[in-house]
Amino acid sequence: MPAVLTDLLPDTARVADGELVLGGVRSTELAREFGTPVVVYDEATIRGHARAYLTAAPGALVAYGTKAFPSVAVLQVLAEEGLGADVSTVGELEFALRAGVPGERLVIHGNNKEDELLRRAAGSGALIVLDSLEELERARAIDATRFLVRVTPGIEADTHEAVKTAHHGSKFGLPPDDAVEAIRRLPECEGLHVHVGSQLLHFGASLMTVDWISSFAVRLRAELGWTPRVIDLGGGLGVRHVLEEPSFTIEEFVGGLLGELQRTWPLQGLPDPQLIFEPGRSLVSRAGVTLYTVGGVKRASAATTYVTVDGGMSDNPRPAMYNARYTALLANRADEDVAEPYSVAGKHCESGDVLIERVDLPEPRRGDLLAVPVTGAYTLAMSSTYNAVPRPPAVLVRDGEARLIRRRETVDDLLALET
Ligand SMILES: *Cc1c(COP(=O)(O)O)cnc(C)c1O
Repeated sequence: MPAVLTDLLPDTARVADGELVLGGVRSTELAREFGTPVVVYDEATIRGHARAYLTAAPGALVAYGTKAFPSVAVLQVLAEEGLGADVSTVGELEFALRAGVPGERLVIHGNNKEDELLRRAAGSGALIVLDSLEELERARAIDATRFLVRVTPGIEADTHEAVKTAHHGSKFGLPPDDAVEAIRRLPECEGLHVHVGSQLLHFGASLMTVDWISSFAVRLRAELGWTPRVIDLGGGLGVRHVLEEPSFTIEEFVGGLLGELQRTWPLQGLPDPQLIFEPGRSLVSRAGVTLYTVGGVKRASAATTYVTVDGGMSDNPRPAMYNARYTALLANRADEDVAEPYSVAGKHCESGDVLIERVDLPEPRRGDLLAVPVTGAYTLAMSSTYNAVPRPPAVLVRDGEARLIRRRETVDDLLALET
């Protein structure tokens, strides 16, 4: 089996009669029923990733980083597996509540939480992660009771600038001295939160953070006689989008962090904390595959031939925003030998609207289906209607059945906002 199938596509992906099959459903059938572009989510992969976290960290609360793909159906699947949700806006909170995620499994984030978010979080019994001293006073004023303090250790994660979050000067969290002050004012606070960054493909910064947090706990015990009962290590595990990128399993990542915690914590005579993890990307990214229809093929220069597809930076802004790399395969001719390298361009009026710089494909033709793997996180979640292009639908596949979980937006939906 080609590596793209086993390593980048969802667990249930296979090729039958030359065609890519996801969750037991043929890709041409998905395209016929739901149109393209369409983001297809494999339920078995989502459940498998959720179980991997729960197995690697028994007893921990695993709260899905909802922003990776806010979807009631996906939140329901994860809640069935016993996960909670990490939300940072009233909208995300509403998605999680609509999915039936219990209040005590909700973790509330954000560096500028709306009053309504704080109020509703307090009312639902959620854990509020304080992001400033000023917010602490606002939360106290509305009688919220369950808190963590987010602290910024000053550690630089090895990832894109836009998704580093624990460095000095980050807009998130409290610098250590302010975090001490927060706990002095709020000793009933349950514990500490750190989140190093997102799309981490190296663990050095995460391990350093675990060490840092145990020395910080020692400082808090010495200065305030306070010990954290809860440690929330955030999310951040990266996924590979192309085979050349490094990859780590959930077991390796969580196992590494737990090992470090189990080494440093007792050394300082600290009691075992209740742990929280907040994975987003690593739960849903590889579960998602975007199917596009090829509009045409154009030779632009001796070096570059474009394949154009019926979507682009509106449904997946990650290549334009983060220089993210992707690969692709022809879903309807998945067993044909590749012919030559192509660039995959979207339909938007920007030269930057190139989803893939270079990918080897069998000679594509208008009408072919192009599948882009590992598009389950931060794609639809960050989609736009640029060029007045309606956003694609999402479909959940399982055991040969496909269920629409988010309908396609229409031009009428867009026009409905015009006054
Ligand atoms: C974005 C975010 C997450 C999820 O991050 P992933 O990289 O998708 O795992 C978790 N916690 C916080 C505080 C976040 O901001």
